Amino acid sequence: MANLYRMLPSVDALLGDLLAEARYRSLPRAFIRDLVNDFMALCREEIKSGVITHETELEQPIFRKKLEAYLKTHTRPHFRRVINATGVVIHTNLGRSILNTRAAEAVQQACLHYSNLEFSLDTGKRGSRYSHVEDLLCRITGAEAGLVVNNNASAVLIILDTLAKGKEVVVSRGQLVEIGGSFRIPDVMAKSGAYLREVGATNRTHVRDYEGAINEQTGALLKVHTSNYRIIGFHKEVSLGELAGMGARHNIPVIEDMGSGNFFDFPAHGYHFMPEPTVQQVVRDGVSVVSFSGDKLLGGPQSGIIVGKKQYIDRIKKNPLNRAIRIDKMTLAALESTLRLYLDPEVAMREVPTLRMITAKSQDLKKAALRLKNKIQKNVRSELELSIFPAQSRVGGGAFPEQDLPTFVVGINSPELTCQELKDRLLSTDPPVIGRIENDLFCLDPRTMDNPEFALVCRALDQALETQS
Ligand SMILES: *Cc1c(COP(=O)(O)O)cnc(C)c1O
Repeated sequence: MANLYRMLPSVDALLGDLLAEARYRSLPRAFIRDLVNDFMALCREEIKSGVITHETELEQPIFRKKLEAYLKTHTRPHFRRVINATGVVIHTNLGRSILNTRAAEAVQQACLHYSNLEFSLDTGKRGSRYSHVEDLLCRITGAEAGLVVNNNASAVLIILDTLAKGKEVVVSRGQLVEIGGSFRIPDVMAKSGAYLREVGATNRTHVRDYEGAINEQTGALLKVHTSNYRIIGFHKEVSLGELAGMGARHNIPVIEDMGSGNFFDFPAHGYHFMPEPTVQQVVRDGVSVVSFSGDKLLGGPQSGIIVGKKQYIDRIKKNPLNRAIRIDKMTLAALESTLRLYLDPEVAMREVPTLRMITAKSQDLKKAALRLKNKIQKNVRSELELSIFPAQSRVGGGAFPEQDLPTFVVGINSPELTCQELKDRLLSTDPPVIGRIENDLFCLDPRTMDNPEFALVCRALDQALETQS
């Protein structure tokens, strides 16, 4: 072991070697010295713990290759593009919805140039940042007023804080949901200073349950869209229409947390998914205030959109919390562009990637899978067994839970690697490719990929397969 330690080159010698190369000279000197030091510490640790056991592992070409790989992973951006080959369209861990190109262009304009963010070009005086999207939101949803905040979690928080602080909020037991990332309705309620008044049973809640709970302490009736799970069997929920009627009779606002906002009437366009209400429908049913995410089904930027009756929206706008959760100009630019696409649902379906991917037809996905398979066959150097078989994609993002979307995937079998090994290796290729394992094969689902990405997948496969020893 002492010998092994002695074989390690000095940091100065290594640095000298590295700095002979332009690509390392362009990095900050102190940074690269730190990295080399960290790498050497790692090597000493590996000798100590018996990971490195033989002198050959410390010889020049092997050692140098290992150092370069270490420097590569630590100098490239940590936050990177990946290929989503999972078939999960709104993938919470892979950035949820991707933006349409117009929105991306608008973001670029907004951040490279000055803008009329809070400036009225009509009066030459101070304007409101919300003015850019409020009219569009009202036109699309039919609501009287609207505003946008950082995300839907903050939207729910500010709604409760404004309308129900210190009062009771009546919620069905079946709707006390937790979504990913520790957002739980009871916890958000506590944070807002409203008191949770649970009614009904887990599987069934009736009008009389709500009626029985309403008293002079009641601040609001809340409906939460159970967007990431489904109760099946002996089940009853009170409809939003019924709640709205009750709210009107007692002069209490009715709030809905829709989770995944949706403007697109899927059944009307021939997509018979499980029922998922549209925001337009919720507004028509008489909700006082409804909130939803901008980057789930809507396919826009991360944001929390609130629309509803003017009397309530005006109060929310004046809440000082609003400043703490306001959206920035890049979000605003992306959101306005995305909303404009929804003025014509056909255009939205073509141009909003989230909608396009969800509505992709399985015969088209079969053709795409075939193109991908052929491309891999032609371009990837290693021997691979490729197949195409029917599978299911998912909407994700807590929308349409349990809704299967029929697709065709390319299954890959490498004679050298297990499917899990291949999956792991593709995490460190450039770009990384995230797929899934099905039928003991590593699978690529074309639903969430576009054609130019097929070439990137081939490159990544080459990288993943060539590193095998
Ligand atoms: C996703 C979701 C939220 C949180 O929205 P974010 O935009 O992630 O903050 C809140 N409520 C429900 C029901 C959701 O599905």
